[in-house]
Amino acid sequence: MSDFDDLLEANRTFSETFEFGGFDGIARAGVAIVTCMDSRIDPLGMVGLKPGDAKIFRNPGGRVTQQALEALVLGVHLLNVDRILVVPHTRCAVASSTEEELHERVTASAGVDSTWQTFNVVRDQRATLAADVHKVRSHPLVPDSVAVGGFVYDVDSGLLEPVA
Ligand SMILES: [Zn+2]
Repeated sequence: MSDFDDLLEANRTFSETFEFGGFDGIARAGVAIVTCMDSRIDPLGMVGLKPGDAKIFRNPGGRVTQQALEALVLGVHLLNVDRILVVPHTRCAVASSTEEELHERVTASAGVDSTWQTFNVVRDQRATLAADVHKVRSHPLVPDSVAVGGFVYDVDSGLLEPVA
């Protein structure tokens, strides 16, 4: 396991001042965020939250997939969520590449064919965001009392732009 030594060492340091033991799993601020896996995004920090405050679901592009809906329904009914933010971002690889381009790059990196692997690219980020927000709002298990918003996160300014 030596590949992880530096991270486990950091984890021991982290644990020394850990203050969230004994928490339940609810979202204390009532917030759930669906966003991209992008390493430039700090989902809690960008809205002033801390661990324990929010449910976070991440995937390439910050898409409202079936699994995201599953997470949001659980969040709303079991985990205190009453506000949901869907947050794709600027300069996202899955919103600025075609599936063919991603296949070319992954195939070049892997040295084997990657065309069997689906990459759900986004052609029109804002229209896709509006459709994803609609998916959440119209879900039969997400009541109208839950606020749902779509925002584009600017990875260069740190600002959220309300879109849907
Ligand atoms: Zn992204």
